[in-house]
Amino acid sequence: MTQRLTVIKGDGIGPSLVDATLKVFEKLKLNFQYDFVEAGIEAHAKHGELLPASTLNSIATNKICLKGPLTTPVGEGFKSMNVTLRQKFDLYVNLRPALSFPGVVSRYENIDLITIRENTEGLYSGEGQIVEGDHAEAKSVVTRQGSERIVRYAFEMSRKLGRKKVTVVHKANILKSTSGLFLKVAREVAAQYPDIQMQEMIVDNCCMQLVMNPYQFDVIVTTNLFGDILSDLAAGLVGGLGMAPAANIGKDIAIFEAVHGSAPDIAGKNIANPSSVMLAGAMMLEHMGYLKEANKITTAVKDVINKKDRITKDLGGTYGTTDFTQAVLERL
Ligand code: NAD
Repeated sequence: MTQRLTVIKGDGIGPSLVDATLKVFEKLKLNFQYDFVEAGIEAHAKHGELLPASTLNSIATNKICLKGPLTTPVGEGFKSMNVTLRQKFDLYVNLRPALSFPGVVSRYENIDLITIRENTEGLYSGEGQIVEGDHAEAKSVVTRQGSERIVRYAFEMSRKLGRKKVTVVHKANILKSTSGLFLKVAREVAAQYPDIQMQEMIVDNCCMQLVMNPYQFDVIVTTNLFGDILSDLAAGLVGGLGMAPAANIGKDIAIFEAVHGSAPDIAGKNIANPSSVMLAGAMMLEHMGYLKEANKITTAVKDVINKKDRITKDLGGTYGTTDFTQAVLERL
């Protein structure tokens, strides 16, 4: 039976990077059938809705989605459709690996760390947003159940991958209720995994430690906002957002995307690095059980970068998205 996938091409640089990734799938002779659906600004323009029922139905049916970034207005306007999708499908795990590829010009080499971000709660709960004149409020929601399942995921994944250490990042010294509960639950869960070292770290110190000595980290697990920020920081250790893929995982539905956004500053210029979405595509294939094909993508991207064959500007090259894509396709 042909596997059906949902594809949201997204905004800004999204469509060009998603198209590049679909070309890679085609070259690998993965005969997927695609439901191309919209979300966010494009969906609103076409259907008068930010998240049409057809989009939600397609994801609910196919259970796997490849997604480009979606633009969210800053400071005002509609709620992020990224956050909405994660909450609607209860995609509570945001898995964001930061892996050094040989040949990437960066301050560091041999980085290999994974940020596991709680994806549905915290300050991104969207609850209690109030603006009254010069007074604004937002509610942060942390639950035992939400904390337990994400910390357990981090430890289970670490055990499966043979990783040795999980750093629980929090701000329980100040945010005593929310971050306090997260840390309390994390300690309880960690006690059930004596084979894996658990380290606690306050988020501000973690930022400094990540820059000073990133090699001390293996797996980081943290709440929504901290995970969002730390994973961009981690991407900066391995060559930038062009090298950073991500997965949003729930019980039986998963959405794969880049860590980055729609990058309006470079949209339409054919200069974005497609590795982020290609590597997210590889994560998706791995999740679906296509291990050989996933490995082929990662190996091809690695080789293009290592040989500096038609690499994009962010990697120190002079070539465009389409040239980079061609170099990857030639290796498959
Ligand atoms: P961004 O992640 O889009 O871009 C940050 C910087 O990284 C920019 O300088 C950009 O040019 C660069 N960059 C990003 N991807 C790149 C790539 N593949 N190759 C080379 N350079 C790359 O962040 P932003 O500009 O703050 O956000 C733009 C929009 O994206 C906002 O509306 C934001 O809400 C949205 N956003 C969406 C997602 C998502 O869909 N998951 C994630 C983050 C931000």
